Amino acid sequence: MAELIIGIDLGTTNSEVAVVENGVPRVLPGDDGDPILPSFVGLADDGRLLVGKAARNQYALAPERTIKSVKRKMGEDVKVPLGEEQYRPQEVSAMILRALKDRAQKALGKDVQKAVVTVPAYFNDAQRQATIEAGQLAGLEVVRILNEPTAAALVYDPDQTSGMNVLVYDLGGGTFDVSVVRAEGGVVEVLASHGDTKLGGDDFDELLLNHLCDKFKTQHQIDLRTNTTSQARILRSAESAKRTLSDHPFARLEEEFIAEKDGVPLHLSMEVGRGEYEELIRTLIDRTMDCVQRSLDDAHLTAAQIDRVVLVGGSTRTPMVGDLLESRLGRPARKDINPDLCVAMGAAVQAAMIAGETVGAVLVDITPHSMGIKTLDPSSGDYLFGGGFSFRFAPIITRGTPLPASRSEVFSTVSDNQPSVEIDIYQGESEDVRRNHRVGMFNIEGLSKVPAGNKLVVQLDLNLDGVLKISAREKATGLVKHITIDNALARFERDERDASTARLEQLWRDRFPEVPEGEGDDDVGPDDIESEMLHGLESEGEGPSASMPALDSGPREGQREAVQARALLEKAERIRTKATTEDHSELDRLMQNVRTTLEDRNWHGLETASDALADVLFYLEDT
Ligand code: AMP
Repeated sequence: MAELIIGIDLGTTNSEVAVVENGVPRVLPGDDGDPILPSFVGLADDGRLLVGKAARNQYALAPERTIKSVKRKMGEDVKVPLGEEQYRPQEVSAMILRALKDRAQKALGKDVQKAVVTVPAYFNDAQRQATIEAGQLAGLEVVRILNEPTAAALVYDPDQTSGMNVLVYDLGGGTFDVSVVRAEGGVVEVLASHGDTKLGGDDFDELLLNHLCDKFKTQHQIDLRTNTTSQARILRSAESAKRTLSDHPFARLEEEFIAEKDGVPLHLSMEVGRGEYEELIRTLIDRTMDCVQRSLDDAHLTAAQIDRVVLVGGSTRTPMVGDLLESRLGRPARKDINPDLCVAMGAAVQAAMIAGETVGAVLVDITPHSMGIKTLDPSSGDYLFGGGFSFRFAPIITRGTPLPASRSEVFSTVSDNQPSVEIDIYQGESEDVRRNHRVGMFNIEGLSKVPAGNKLVVQLDLNLDGVLKISAREKATGLVKHITIDNALARFERDERDASTARLEQLWRDRFPEVPEGEGDDDVGPDDIESEMLHGLESEGEGPSASMPALDSGPREGQREAVQARALLEKAERIRTKATTEDHSELDRLMQNVRTTLEDRNWHGLETASDALADVLFYLEDT
C-alpha cells in the first residue's frame, strides 16, 4: 500500500486538507461536515484554544483573543498577541495545521505524519521556510512545498503530459494572485506570477457596505458606520447579498431595528441589483485584469497562447470575473472544480504522486450545454421579450456549470401594456437561437399594464438527474408561472440527433434535387459525411458516381459503413486540430474505437462507435 501523505491548502482566510482515495482527490470534512476550516485561531473566555469557525465567530466580539490572516505575517520576525501570550507566526500556523492533521486522522482512522503544503507562488525563501517549520511544530513532515497555482493546474490535468500553458486566476477573500504555469512532460513550472496581497472579496463587502450605508444616510440622515454593532450586521448582510448576486440579478437585504431616530426604531430594507453592485467593484476587477496582462507579458505569451484558464478562490464566483477574463483571453474559464477546494485537491494529487500512486481526473457533474431562453436581439444592451425581430439565445446556466445549479436573470418587455410573454427554453451554445434546441415553453399572462421595460426574472434550476425547473416572475407584482422538464439533459441528446437528421435530409434534397422523395433519406450523420462517402467510393473506383440510387443498391456487407467510417475519421482529424486540448483525449478514445471496430470488421460495433464519434463531432463543430 502506498504511503499516506495528505495535501494541505494553508490559506489566508480558509484552509483545507485533502487525500487521494482510489485515484481520486477528496477534501476531508470536519465534525460539522464542512470541508472548509477558517484560518482563525483564538482563545475562548475559559482559556481553551479555538481553531476554525469557533475562533472566527468570536473575532468580532473578542479581537484581542483572536488571530486572523496570520499567513500575511509568515516569514517575518514578529510576534502576534493572543490573550496574555505572544506567538511567532509559524506557531499560529502550526495550530491550524495541527487541526487539519487531527481532522485527517479522524476522517481516515489512521496516523498521519507527512504532508504537502501549498504556498503562493510569490512566497520567498523565508516564508517557505516558516511554512515548513509550522508543519514540524504541528507534528507533520512537509515533504514538499507546492505553489498554489501549480496545485490548481494539477487538479485539472494530473498527468501534466499534455504540454499546455495554464493561467490560474485566484481571487479569495483577502488576496489576489494570477500565475501563468507551463505543464509539460510531468513538470509544472511557474512562468510568471503577479498579484495584490490586499485585494479580495472582503474589499467587495466593504464597498457594498459603504454603498448601503450611504443610501441609508440619505434616507434617514443616520450614518450606520458610527455604530460598531450596526456596521457588523450590515457587513454580514452585504457579504450574503454579494453571494446571492453571483447567481441572481437582485438581492434583498433586511435588517430590523438597525438604528433609532427620535425614539422610533428604523429598519434597513433595500434591494441591490447586480449591475449596481458590479459598478461598485468594477475598478477592483479591472485592476486584477491589469495583473493578468502583466503576467502574460512576463511569461512572454499572448492571450491566444493560453490553453486553459482555471479559477481559484471563492470570489471567482462573481460572474463579472469570468466574463471579463473570457473577453480578455478569448476562452471561457474552467469553473467545474469547486474554486474553494481546488488547491487542496491539487496538493493531495501531488502528495499521491510522491507516494507513487496513480491519480485520475476529478470527475464532477456539470451541465454539458448552456441553458437559457429566446430573446430579442439585445441591441439596446438589455435583453428584451417580444415578437417580430431577430431572436437571440440568452444563456442563464452556462455550459460547464457544476450541478445542481440555480441561476436567474432579468429580462424586460418591449411593448407598452404587454399582457403576456412567451418563455421559450433552449439548450446549446449558439447565439443564434435557431441553431440551439428547444426543450420547452410556456406563457406568463396577466402582466401589469405598464410601459415597455416591465421586468421579469427568469430562473432555471437544474439538478443532477437532469430535471429542469423554469420560473418567470413579474418583478413588480410577484406574479409567477413555472414548469418542470423531467429529462432536460437526455432530451437534448435525442433532439440533437433529430436536428442532425433533419439538417442532413434538407442538405440531401438541396444537393441532389433529382432524387425522388424518400430514396435518399435513409441514412443519417453529420452533413458532409455523405458527400465524402460518395467521393470515397468514386476515388476507389468501386462504387457508382455521385448519384443517389447507387446508395440504395445494396453494397457489399460493411462496405458502406467502412467508407462512411473512414470519412468520419478524416473529419475527426480535421476537427481535432481545431479542438481544445481538453477535448483531445475523449476524441482520441472515440476515434480509436472506430478504428478498432473497422479493423475487426465488426460492422455492428462500427455503427455504434461511429454514432458516438459523430455525436461528439457534431457538438464540437458548433463550439
Ligand atoms: P477564499 O479566500 O478563497 O476562501 O474566498 C473567500 C471569499 O470568497 C470571501 O470574500 C467570500 O465572500 C467570497 N465568496 C464565496 N462565495 C461567493 C459567491 N458565491 N460569490 C461571490 N463571492 C463569494
